[in-house]
Amino acid sequence: MLRTIALGVLGASALAGCAVTNTPYPRPSDVYGATPPATPAPNIYTNAARAPLHSELFACGNWGSNIGEVGARGETLLYTPYIHTPAGALLRNPTETACLSSGFGWRGSATGGGRLHNGLDLANPNGGYIYAAGEGRIVFAGPRGGYGNVVEIYHGRNVRTLYAHLDEIDPNLRPGVRVEAGAPIGRMGMTGNATGVHLHYEVSIDGLLIDPLAYGREAPPIL
Ligand SMILES: [Zn+2]
Repeated sequence: MLRTIALGVLGASALAGCAVTNTPYPRPSDVYGATPPATPAPNIYTNAARAPLHSELFACGNWGSNIGEVGARGETLLYTPYIHTPAGALLRNPTETACLSSGFGWRGSATGGGRLHNGLDLANPNGGYIYAAGEGRIVFAGPRGGYGNVVEIYHGRNVRTLYAHLDEIDPNLRPGVRVEAGAPIGRMGMTGNATGVHLHYEVSIDGLLIDPLAYGREAPPIL
């Protein structure tokens, strides 16, 4: 007798469950209209490989400026793979592949004078991925005047990196989003005030722009 009652209760709840799952869902045409939207393109950044670690950086040619001493094979002698900063090691060349076309400092001009170049120019006519130089949080991602499409990352301890002239930016990047070291963040381009496809790469520490080629070649002593 008890058993029969128990089964009866089970049966009732099973029926209730059926009623719930039978609630009609909106058909796609009710939500989107007659034609559902095309499947969005997969985000190319989701499955892209992490940044390669470049053991050397070659000068682009004879037309570079402020690139320091260059060896017999065209290699930039100042280059080391990491910039050692108070926030940890950052990639000195956060590109898929590139050569150094311009260094940090005053760029002279044939007519005299010149202007300060605030970062490194890493060039590749074929573009390619740009990567977060280190772990951090997005401060800015979007167009910014002559810098074109810009990503700016805060790495902690007043260390920031900035990536300019990007062809495109990973659409998932918004201020506050955390990025891992070496994660792809965009693609090299020539948006804004640029005469060729390159990355303009800036590093600032305590609000001061440093020379990303010369700074932090040795790991700082552990305090
Ligand atoms: Zn530049």
